[in-house]
Amino acid sequence: MANIVIFGPPGSGKGTQSQRIKEKYNLAHISTGEMLRDRIERGTELGKLADSYISKGNLVPDEVIVSMLEKEMEKAEAAGGIILDGFPRTVRQAEALDKMLKRRGSEISHVIGLEVPDEMVTERLLKRGEESGRSDDNAEAIKQRLEVYHNTTVPVKEYYSRQGLYRPVDGSKEIEEIFRQINDLMS
Ligand code: AMP
Repeated sequence: MANIVIFGPPGSGKGTQSQRIKEKYNLAHISTGEMLRDRIERGTELGKLADSYISKGNLVPDEVIVSMLEKEMEKAEAAGGIILDGFPRTVRQAEALDKMLKRRGSEISHVIGLEVPDEMVTERLLKRGEESGRSDDNAEAIKQRLEVYHNTTVPVKEYYSRQGLYRPVDGSKEIEEIFRQINDLMS
């Protein structure tokens, strides 16, 4: 059972690479960002709450994310493992994930870190914003998302590095080349 975390700043290509990894290794793909956008589209209470954070480029509170994920993990258990995309984003979430997996007699296999400089992700996200319709792909929210990434999410990378699980990949390369690097790490 392979449980993969794909880590990186916003716009580093986590979603794109997750799709490929999912198909090749037959994993369940869990994207907390997509789950939240689905709830926003459906206009649920959780969606309304989440949107007030997301549109400003801030993180949705840990308790909300962890309980949403817990339910999704049950559905994913039938698959050969999971690929987590956009989670964990705080050390508290990483600790909650460890507990969740431990209860299931499981653990994280690899943390793949897509490393891309801020200027490049900003450029990619502004471009994506022209078509994505996402409330957070605008200059102001992008700036805040990057600040939150450096202040709150980078400690998660350190958390996994200490456990010897963090595997950096050069995310500034072409999609195929990045996927090749990831495959090398997985084998
Ligand atoms: P993403 O699609 O992963 O870029 O996520 C979009 C937005 O959803 C983020 O900027 C956060 O506001 C929110 N979000 C997604 N995942 C999380 C998470 N694990 N913890 C807190 N907020 C999250």
